[in-house]
Amino acid sequence: MPYDGMGNYIESKADNTSDVIGFGDVGGIGQLIYHTFRFRDYEFEEGAGESWDLKPIVYKGMEPDLDKSNGFSGKELFREVYNLGRKINEFSEEKPYVDLIIEFCKDVAHPYYIDTVYSLMTDKQFDIADDGEMLERESLFSLSTFMHDLERFYTATQFYFALKKVCAGDGDDTFDLAQEGKFFEGLPFFEKYKHEENFQEYKLEKGEITPQQLLHEMIAEQKKTKHREQKEVTWFAREPFDYYEELREQLMDMIPDFHMRLKINPRNNQVVFAADVHSVFDICWYTLARMLVDFGPPEEGGRIRELNEGAIITCLHCAEAFIRDNNRQLYCKKVECQRAHNAARQRKYRANKKLAETKAKNKK
Ligand SMILES: [Zn+2]
Repeated sequence: MPYDGMGNYIESKADNTSDVIGFGDVGGIGQLIYHTFRFRDYEFEEGAGESWDLKPIVYKGMEPDLDKSNGFSGKELFREVYNLGRKINEFSEEKPYVDLIIEFCKDVAHPYYIDTVYSLMTDKQFDIADDGEMLERESLFSLSTFMHDLERFYTATQFYFALKKVCAGDGDDTFDLAQEGKFFEGLPFFEKYKHEENFQEYKLEKGEITPQQLLHEMIAEQKKTKHREQKEVTWFAREPFDYYEELREQLMDMIPDFHMRLKINPRNNQVVFAADVHSVFDICWYTLARMLVDFGPPEEGGRIRELNEGAIITCLHCAEAFIRDNNRQLYCKKVECQRAHNAARQRKYRANKKLAETKAKNKK
């Protein structure tokens, strides 16, 4: 938390104009003022209960790497965190999840207490030889908290991408979303639409039947449910698209509240309306919230033309999140994905050619 030992609030040191993620980037919902930085390495420390903590290693020669002006943007952090969640949750991933988390911290950003820790490190009186140990203490975070935060964000984001696909008429991915991953539970949001029974009104009215009849009805209902679970469901009984508003509501409910308040920018003594940022997850949630604000009409696949450039989407081939350069880009830039893209294009070309040939033949 951004308070010193005496309980006084420490003003963020991230205050020049280049630190401000403006309305165009994550904007529209006020401003985010933050810095990203990385420690060179981490070590494990026994935490409370059965959990483990990750503690950065800081001493002279192991100075942290600070992004003074151009740190990661909200979208870039979103992409990195989402792809980390995906990797951790994949059964085929062989690296232990803690290794993946440490890699993220070293390559992208230290995840927690980013405002306080940055203020501490940039304080004039800060001296790495004397204060390194304190910095380690202040930056330590629990692995289970990280996994919990990651699961919440990853689940909500998967839901967002799925909803967008449903609007684009592509429900294939959505159908299997309830399957559990390696660590995180699957998405339950679309399950309801697989069973017609969920939409039938309950016919029993109170008072019209005896308690015994009610019990019989309940047992019968239970049997039906069991039978239903055994029956293999191959497609939605109701199209989720028709329940777009209900689904959107659920997604909105998952976004945490943001703490916004007026702060003084010490550089120019101006009042800014800014949000408190404690972790990279805060930044990711803001970015997702912004993407929801920009969600276009569902009939048009949730697309808003002018915002499509720079939008975060998932690659059609590898399903990783990436920031697109133009509004036609559907595959990320990895070699294997570009190859898959070319193959798909060739298939399409051949199919079109064949169709044209058949048409020409039929004319004759
Ligand atoms: Zn890809």
